[in-house]
Amino acid sequence: DRLVTAAADGEDRAVEAALRPKDLAEFIGQERVREQLSLVLQAARQRGATPDHVLLSGPPGLGKTTLSMIIAAEMNAPIRITSGPAIQHAGDLAAILSSLTEGEVLFLDEIHRMSRPAEEMLYMAMEDFRVDVIVGKGPGATAIPLELPPFTLVGATTRAGLLPPPLRDRFGFTGHMEFYAPAELERVLHRSARLLDLDIDPAGAAEIAGRSRGTPRIANRLLRRVRDYAQVKHDGRITPEIAAQALDVYEVDGRGLDRLDRAVLDVLLRLFGGGPVGLSTLAVAVGEESETVEEVAEPFLVREGLLARTPRGRIATAAAWQHLGLTPPAAPPG
Ligand code: ADP
Repeated sequence: DRLVTAAADGEDRAVEAALRPKDLAEFIGQERVREQLSLVLQAARQRGATPDHVLLSGPPGLGKTTLSMIIAAEMNAPIRITSGPAIQHAGDLAAILSSLTEGEVLFLDEIHRMSRPAEEMLYMAMEDFRVDVIVGKGPGATAIPLELPPFTLVGATTRAGLLPPPLRDRFGFTGHMEFYAPAELERVLHRSARLLDLDIDPAGAAEIAGRSRGTPRIANRLLRRVRDYAQVKHDGRITPEIAAQALDVYEVDGRGLDRLDRAVLDVLLRLFGGGPVGLSTLAVAVGEESETVEEVAEPFLVREGLLARTPRGRIATAAAWQHLGLTPPAAPPG
């Protein structure tokens, strides 16, 4: 339930449908992926063929689901959306695959979390458009081959490196999604504000973009909280002052750090002089589980160059002292 988490919550799901760009031209940023994908789709259209399978890798909230929907829209094809964790048994996957229609796009989110037997069934489906459906159990079981219509699998994963090579190799193209630059997030925010009928200053959008951790989903979520504040406390217009006040209320600071992130830095700086300090000691002092500190707070702090993980423990960088407005202790004489 952190405001700055990149995973989707219930409210996100409810409103995201309205904010998704519908075609490649409307999709902001990710120039390289967009250009590569545009070529793949255009070539397939010219050949009257189904595009190659596409793998999209990158952190949550950067637009992988959106791109899969765009692929379907650009090909004028229907889309089916599911995820690795939802496919526990090979039979679950067989049921989905056997009901696909010609040219359909199958979006498989978190593809690295599929079960092993399902994964093996997918290899054959991707390569030969065929599955073996096992009927019966034990020695009497028989495999009935089933032809599938050509379809395009769009797989999404947080890290392409997590995929077994045989699966990775069956994708014709891998798009690596990057975090968005602030200027790109500003464009996302202006677009969303227009769709939500909000009045936002360019500087107001910049203020929100700077706190959005390079992630459109977070930008859109922060925009909704700022909208509430602007509406309740003012006349609805989003200026930089109002955006900053609103996000201060929600404890998302100017760089996108929330309360937990700041607590980790604060303890590291004030209690341990900037480190090095071990993870478990740091976590106890923050009053959190080690896993929470390591998996929830640290990745962004590391990415922002505020904290470093070293063999001797966690250390704060000069930027961390600066960000919290503290002075590092003077180096010992000599
Ligand atoms: P993912 O599947 O990578 O977790 P989504 O495709 O669900 O991410 O995107 C999350 C939200 O961010 C969506 O509501 C979408 O509208 C918005 N979004 C993502 N990428 C873009 C983009 N390039 N331009 C505009 N909005 C975007």
